Amino acid sequence: MPLHANTPLFESRQMSLSAGRSVWLKLDSLQPPGSFKIRGVGFACETHAARGARRFVSSSGGNAGLAVAYAGRNLTIPVTVVVPETTSERAKELLRLENAEVIVHGASWQEANELAVSLVGEHDAFIHPFDDPLLWQGHATLVDEVFRSGLEPDAIILSVGGGGLLSGVAEGLHRNGWGHIPILAVETDGAASFHEATKVGRPVELERITSIATSLGAKRVCERAVQWSREHPIRSILVSDQSALSACERFLADHRVLVEPACGASLAPVYENASELGNFSTVLVVVCGGATAMIDQIRQWSKRYV
Ligand SMILES: *Cc1c(COP(=O)(O)O)cnc(C)c1O
Repeated sequence: MPLHANTPLFESRQMSLSAGRSVWLKLDSLQPPGSFKIRGVGFACETHAARGARRFVSSSGGNAGLAVAYAGRNLTIPVTVVVPETTSERAKELLRLENAEVIVHGASWQEANELAVSLVGEHDAFIHPFDDPLLWQGHATLVDEVFRSGLEPDAIILSVGGGGLLSGVAEGLHRNGWGHIPILAVETDGAASFHEATKVGRPVELERITSIATSLGAKRVCERAVQWSREHPIRSILVSDQSALSACERFLADHRVLVEPACGASLAPVYENASELGNFSTVLVVVCGGATAMIDQIRQWSKRYV
């Protein structure tokens, strides 16, 4: 049995009315570790376990690290996660609940990542948060599930951080004969590394991340994501932090599910019926989730805009 769940897929009445079209949701916020990440991470960890890995190492204090910790506990393989000092208490607590060893090191993710990489021994597997073909192969199962359901959307809306989800969904569309279905790739202003990359046709490094949607905060997207933009119809959409936050609030009210701003980002164009939705009559939103989301924090951030 895979480590990820086959998640609910349903039409949102409330969001369909907001957008004046049929809006379907793939609820990956209901994955046990809180986000879609377990699809790819679970597949990568199972593959490494079958090859004899004795430990998993991650440098993510977010959903990727949590997915590795969850996979390790379920496969009875120890997990070490190195996180920077900026990581929230909540994230560290969730990692420890999964029995991961948490090492706090460095002021930034770069420093934590350097230590993590240096710890990877001969029998360890380093699990990257977004740039790994095994990860994309696992993320692609999301599309397999939609395909098997019989629903054929006109477009798929998803959030982009480092481009792992995008690469996996594109792979899933192609392996199901759906290479014609466009992807609407959403980022927040201040975390627009995919948007910038598609302008010049190669990954570029952002100077800094200014968005509160930290799960979208990869300064540079993976090469594969940019390559997909040449092989698959992909439209880039930017939303404000404020839009992402209010989408989180509306989604909580509509569906009683709390998601991170990184996920609110892909709900925002639907709630605002953004022009980029064009004349697609049936759209599918990947509700990517977010384990560290807390309503107090979301409301705290929202106060900046009143
Ligand atoms: C990781 C993550 C993203 C971004 O995914 P990438 O594969 O890095 O593009 C978006 N939302 C949530 C909740 C995430 O955990």
